[in-house]
Amino acid sequence: MKLVAILGGGPAGAFAAERLASAGLDTVVFDEKLAWEKPCGGGLTYKAYHTYPFLIENNTPKRVVTETILAAPHTKAATLRLSEPLLIYSRMDLNRMMLERAERAGARIEKARVLEINRTSMGWRLRTNAGALDADFCVIATGARNPLRDFGTQLTSRDSMSALGYYVPGDQAQIDIQFLPHLEGYIWIFPRCGHLSVGICGKGLPAQELRARLEAFMRERSLSWKGARFYAHVLPSLGASGWRNNRVSGQGWMAVGDAGGLVDPITGEGLYYAMRSADLASQVVLDDAHGLAEKPCAYRALLTRDFAADLAFGAIIARRVFLGRFLLGTVPQRMVQFLRRSPRFYDLMQDLVAGSQTYLGLKGRMMRNLQGTLLDTFFHFVLGREVAGENQV
Ligand SMILES: Cc1cc2nc3c(=O)[nH]c(=O)nc-3n(C[C@H](O)[C@H](O)[C@H](O)COP(=O)(O)OP(=O)(O)OC[C@H]3O[C@@H](n4cnc5c(N)ncnc54)[C@H](O)[C@@H]3O)c2cc1C
Repeated sequence: MKLVAILGGGPAGAFAAERLASAGLDTVVFDEKLAWEKPCGGGLTYKAYHTYPFLIENNTPKRVVTETILAAPHTKAATLRLSEPLLIYSRMDLNRMMLERAERAGARIEKARVLEINRTSMGWRLRTNAGALDADFCVIATGARNPLRDFGTQLTSRDSMSALGYYVPGDQAQIDIQFLPHLEGYIWIFPRCGHLSVGICGKGLPAQELRARLEAFMRERSLSWKGARFYAHVLPSLGASGWRNNRVSGQGWMAVGDAGGLVDPITGEGLYYAMRSADLASQVVLDDAHGLAEKPCAYRALLTRDFAADLAFGAIIARRVFLGRFLLGTVPQRMVQFLRRSPRFYDLMQDLVAGSQTYLGLKGRMMRNLQGTLLDTFFHFVLGREVAGENQV
């Protein structure tokens, strides 16, 4: 393989470029905007900076957050001290840092929009608004609004959320998470360098309705959005069948990050998975043990083993987490209450937020600590038949 073209220079594309160029491959990244303030909370979990320490060991401005407040209707909010802090970057800064790392590793970075890619007898011909280029392999990293219809995840409304919000003046130390009735999603307030990002994500509701619900919340909190910059974007949130049929690779190409739908369907965390999938795709591209024809399959298998099976399980329980009812209350309400009252649940939430607890691992953790309490019954309810099925084995 002589030349790899990377389409999109967000975290996924930039990281794939860094990995491939460091290994000596001729690598070119095309991004129509390069570093930009992509609508995003910019939150990076412990899992991300533990796996890729350069994400914390750098001089790029970032907030370090050690506390989250979770709230649900009709119950007192709960405070969660994070065992490992969460980092919050501006996306402009994060993207710039990652593109610079790719460039230092030897990748060529081009500001251009990819208009189409076509197969040739030798590989690919890319047409951009700046010209054309022949490449042997394509990494599709064009994000959730991937304009290339034949490559990457086909996001339907069942497999995505709207995510929108405002950047408002203000400061606070903690992250706020607010669950709302009948919303498969949540509202967040993220403290960022110099402002707050206040936003909402939700599945199956039109953007106007989400915006109205966010503004009602902001009114209650006396947060004014007058003159504030509004942002909106698509957030992949694959359902169970979306994960089963996900189109992440094909002959001569692999999709990474949002272009491959690789986002946690419960939390909306996508930055870690963008980088992780870029890392895995690069390993497959560089691995001589796989011929070109085997690479798509090898990538799918690696993704599944590494994190996609876990996110697919997350998709199965997501609706119960947001919309389920347990003992005359809602699941989010009960979660907030358990957080206040149960040290066991508190520890679990700390690990979930840090990313050191997988969704699939919840079953094992629950079974190891069975105490016949209300919390165990709650776990059984949220994890559903999948747990019962495992117990029977
Ligand atoms: C409101 C919101 C809040 C979020 N908050 C968080 C959070 O706090 N933490 C977290 O982990 N995740 C969060 N996410 C998810 C996260 O933003 C994404 O998962 C992440 O950006 C994916 O990175 P990516 O590189 O795959 O795609 P992107 O970051 O979208 O990058 C894609 C790049 O491709 C370029 N591009 C697209 N089409 C073309 C083309 N034809 N030619 C050239 N270039 C092109 C774009 O300019 C862009 O730079 C949030 C998402 C939203 C919408």
